[in-house]
Amino acid sequence: MVEPTDSPERSDISFGFRRVATKEHAALVRGVFDSVADRYDLMNDLMSGGVHRLWKRALIDRLRPGTALIDVAGGTGDVALGFMAHRDGRDATIIDANTDMLRVGRDRAMDRGLATGITFVCADAAALPLPDHGADAVTISFGLRNVSCRTKALAEMYRVLSPGGHFLCLEFSRVVLPVFARIYNLYSFQIVPRLGRWVTGDEDSYRYLVESIRAFPHQEALSAELRDAGFGNVSHINLTGGIVALHSAWRV
Ligand code: SAM
Repeated sequence: MVEPTDSPERSDISFGFRRVATKEHAALVRGVFDSVADRYDLMNDLMSGGVHRLWKRALIDRLRPGTALIDVAGGTGDVALGFMAHRDGRDATIIDANTDMLRVGRDRAMDRGLATGITFVCADAAALPLPDHGADAVTISFGLRNVSCRTKALAEMYRVLSPGGHFLCLEFSRVVLPVFARIYNLYSFQIVPRLGRWVTGDEDSYRYLVESIRAFPHQEALSAELRDAGFGNVSHINLTGGIVALHSAWRV
């Protein structure tokens, strides 16, 4: 199932496989991440067998070294921390709507001695509290699927990029190998929610994860949304057979 492009005018929106009122969506998503914040990183490692680290590293390695990064929906900070550590980042700003995810991220940054280079800001992706054209690079990793209005979030990320700035989006996408797709579906619907219950005590949040992946636009549809938002040189690569796609686009 592929959700049609959202728009600010829609009165309902998908929350996993359910339709909910647009004005309730953000609170439902916040509830998911309030519930799992303290076990979020552990669950990522367990669910993906650690492969999410390779996906994020693929994104980080495409960022220009020594620049400034804005990581939207940055959560517990994997991308921003990796950028500072591996790409000699000048500074990084993590924007996230959830204070618990930011708290976990701030603790991790302090543990790694990186807290001085990273700013943590609680804000919505659709209303970034940042000036126009100020950023060399904007990233969003496993976040775009959760925002209430992609159109607005993409417009905001485009607005804060400087001309020549790089946008990278890492997100679950459509598996391109049919045999693999069947195994992946079985794993997603039968195992992931149960794992969520054992590790976080919250099966519903991980059912939401699996359903929201199916409701998210696949590779070509997301590329079209990026072009509609004004980005140029839009391209993507599939990672792990398309379980995840890394989209790259530029403010030209
Ligand atoms: N980027 C991190 C990563 O790759 O591990 C976290 C991804 S986590 C799946 C999704 C994050 O998006 C959560 O931290 C959540 O709080 C945040 N989020 C959801 N909706 C948001 C919104 N409208 N604006 C900003 N952040 C949002």
